[in-house]
Amino acid sequence: MDTKYIFVTGGVASSLGKGIIAASLAKLLQARGLRVTIQKFDPYINIDPGTLNPYEHGECYVTEDGAETDLDLGHYERFLGVHTSKANNVTTGKIYHTVITKEREGAYLGKTVQIVPHITDEIKRRMLLLGKTGNWDIVITEIGGTVGDMESQPFVEAVRQLQWELPEEDCMSIHLTLVPYLSAAKELKTKPTQHSVQMLQQSGVQPDVIVCRTEHPLTPELRKKVALFCNVKPGHVIQSIDAWSIYQVPLNMHEEHLDELVVRHLQVDNFAQPDMKEWNEFLSKLRHPKSEVDIALVGKYVELQDAYKSILEAFVHAGAANECKVRVHTVHSEHLNEDNAHDVLSRMDGILVAPGFGERGLEGKVVAIKYARENNVPFFGICLGMQMCVVEFARNVLGFKDAASTEVDAKTTHPVISLMEDQKSTTIKGGTMRLGAYDCVLEKDSLARSIYGCEQIRERHRHRYEFNSEYVSAFEQAGLKASGHNPQTGLVEVVELPTHPFFIGVQFHPEYKSTPEKPQPIFTAFVKAAMAFREAHPHSSNTKK
Ligand code: GLN
Repeated sequence: MDTKYIFVTGGVASSLGKGIIAASLAKLLQARGLRVTIQKFDPYINIDPGTLNPYEHGECYVTEDGAETDLDLGHYERFLGVHTSKANNVTTGKIYHTVITKEREGAYLGKTVQIVPHITDEIKRRMLLLGKTGNWDIVITEIGGTVGDMESQPFVEAVRQLQWELPEEDCMSIHLTLVPYLSAAKELKTKPTQHSVQMLQQSGVQPDVIVCRTEHPLTPELRKKVALFCNVKPGHVIQSIDAWSIYQVPLNMHEEHLDELVVRHLQVDNFAQPDMKEWNEFLSKLRHPKSEVDIALVGKYVELQDAYKSILEAFVHAGAANECKVRVHTVHSEHLNEDNAHDVLSRMDGILVAPGFGERGLEGKVVAIKYARENNVPFFGICLGMQMCVVEFARNVLGFKDAASTEVDAKTTHPVISLMEDQKSTTIKGGTMRLGAYDCVLEKDSLARSIYGCEQIRERHRHRYEFNSEYVSAFEQAGLKASGHNPQTGLVEVVELPTHPFFIGVQFHPEYKSTPEKPQPIFTAFVKAAMAFREAHPHSSNTKK
């Protein structure tokens, strides 16, 4: 079978959840036995979101092969359980970079280089790229932004051209819109959807299916009206009603026959019903927890939930695995200090210190770690969170009062966290961190080894600084154990406190690989430890809510 292409555009408003719809459809098609991948085309000019502040664009997701990408790729991986790669996230910046580099090389000698055809040709080339690998039956392409935005026009034009070039049964277009409910009129309104589709049609793209985000069910009349005015077949207007969990959306889409419409349009022979057994088991555990815990997520980007997307989702998966409702309380590290630590943290059954960059909020992270260490509260530090464990231990146990990471204090007499050797000559900021998956060997008899249940693991990274190896033996003698190392470089990847019930810091980002069907082991063990802590300390957690 030729690779088939599905394009997903969005209209009316941003944040409608195009990524979730694309991922849900992909999940259903995968559950029917098809090999499916999803890619995201973002209209901004940054080469990738690696240089963006999380406040701008939420979390930066990292793939196995070290690409810094849009957080929607996290949804794709969580829903499909299949790795994405550098090729799965394309930006306007990447497209222009390629075209301009080619122009300088003389590839277009004599020609005026223009948006059409040169930019659109490069967009089309990249849209078809994954399909050419032979690995996929279906490639879903999500176009970022909202139809009508000036910057997404070349992408929509590329979709138009591909729809024209490819056989009809190899290509389809899905448009996601919003049908708002006006409470004063007690009515759902279709006009914004009509206008959005008109805009798409003006660009030459006729959607095959319209998915309407709505807070209330769409009546058959309303669906008919949208179909008629938007020129799609009756039955091709489907609703996506607010769901109790994003993981419920694939089932809602199946009930609306989205996957059936798609396999029929694409003339896919495989009409088997989707097998969602494992997914349903996960959902049922998620829906009916038998216990609950409160976890503090200590970070500085707490105002924006999307900044810690993968961590929050990993807790959803780990919660379901333990049949436990995990309530994550974001704690602003800038507002945390020795004086209020007890008030804020004594209600928690576990403390996670988040990744991050720069000085802001760092001292609050050290305070949270000290609290967890001294009060035997289950603790989990990720990347900067692990680095701050090392700083906290250096200052408060080893007595190195000015211990710091050289990221924030280059002059410290105890640079316990320092720049990695190969980072020292790096001046370029974009794409130059230690990125992607690396092996890590876990020490015998360590907490890490018992959590993973194996000696060698592979997790993803995104950092420039490391545990300074000159200090490792001093730490180990004082009780902080380096329990995971990179086998090639010796770099410390995991630290833990054997005298504490559950205290682990990891240089990598385990949250990126957690999925509903394969919850991440450290998150699962951490939630379990939090459950045990809550059992043993009912006063600190169950009372003062
Ligand atoms: N800022 C730290 C470093 O670059 C930690 C990075 C992170 O938490 N992702 O090493």
